[in-house]
Amino acid sequence: MAEPPLVEDYHPATAPQRHFPESLVIWDETLRDGEQMPGVHFSPEEKLEIATLLSEIGVGVLNAGIPVVSDEEARAVRLVANAGLKAKVLAAARTVPKDVDAVIASGASHIAIFVAASNIHLQYKLKLSQEEVLQASLAAVRRAKDAGLHTAFVTEDTVRAPFDFVERLYTAVQDAGADRLVVADTVGIMTPLTFRWYLTEFVRRVKPRDLSVHCHNDFGLATANTITALECGARAPHVCVNGLGERAGNASLEEVVMALESLYGVRTGIRTERLLELSRLVEDRAGVPVAANKAIVGYNAFSHEAGIHAHGVLAHTLTYEPIQPERVGQQRRLILGKHTGRAAVVEKLKERGLAATDAELAELVRRIKAVAEAETKDDVARFVRTYRSRFERPGLSDAEFWSMVEALGIRGGAA
Ligand code: MN
Repeated sequence: MAEPPLVEDYHPATAPQRHFPESLVIWDETLRDGEQMPGVHFSPEEKLEIATLLSEIGVGVLNAGIPVVSDEEARAVRLVANAGLKAKVLAAARTVPKDVDAVIASGASHIAIFVAASNIHLQYKLKLSQEEVLQASLAAVRRAKDAGLHTAFVTEDTVRAPFDFVERLYTAVQDAGADRLVVADTVGIMTPLTFRWYLTEFVRRVKPRDLSVHCHNDFGLATANTITALECGARAPHVCVNGLGERAGNASLEEVVMALESLYGVRTGIRTERLLELSRLVEDRAGVPVAANKAIVGYNAFSHEAGIHAHGVLAHTLTYEPIQPERVGQQRRLILGKHTGRAAVVEKLKERGLAATDAELAELVRRIKAVAEAETKDDVARFVRTYRSRFERPGLSDAEFWSMVEALGIRGGAA
């Protein structure tokens, strides 16, 4: 019998991959937005370690951080920028001269200049008018271009800003030399259909030379929206390893890459067989455990316990595995538990060259289920409690904060 088709073969000839840009650039934000996840901090050496692997794996651009944040952060960006990586190293700046200068001094070849665009952000956060935002943006872009940097321009909360202002601002910065325009769904409110409408309109009105998107996962739609954006002509999607980032995080690198590779047959240039290695490195250094059921890199992403499923994958991987585990550096695992059936037990016995009679198999399956169902939940509960306690109060403790206040002798009452 002929081999069954792969998952990409189920997409009809009219599938939107025809509209994907020719050359995609995976733009990684793990070391910037990913690090902004509450409680996450990478040392300069850790940033270099992660950046090195990101570069080896084939990421095109990586954001090393915002050098103006601290001396330590500036050192991290310098370390990454001067490591001779194949990936382009980018650093971020507000539309403030000293921020741009800090990026220039860091040795990064790429800069992302960001400013908020929506009325909510302008009125309540920046307290700036649209005109002031426009002028500051133009000045910052010119400053970066004069220094010879590849310049991306990003607005926070693009999709909630008035479209006329978005058009005026992005058109002006592109005319001033910005090389790449980034549309950000900062609070993750787009859906694939609304984002398609938005970006089609953006492309028609602004005519970006090079379009990028930044999608957040507040509704679990970041990957879907990112794929939609690529179908609309974006070519440099922002992603984070393990979907790290502010709040519910960003579009996950591994999900976006594998959706492109596997569902659309697009070659991303990423060495997918090292995705698990990358995920585990970032999991360790960030201290944020990957959810067991996380797509692609989760511990259960290629595990099978249910009898029907184990029987299926043993007969043919494509029954229940749309991606073959070795393609992403994973391994198929057959879990013996409450839902185990005979096929998994037969397979397990083969490890020692054994075969059992039907009666022996039935008894083994009965005993496996009994052991699994008798398991106490103490260890599980302890593990979950430890995990929760780490995130219930990340960062500094109250005691640490108040002792700093005391040490400074702060005595004044609130006005
Ligand atoms: Mn973000």
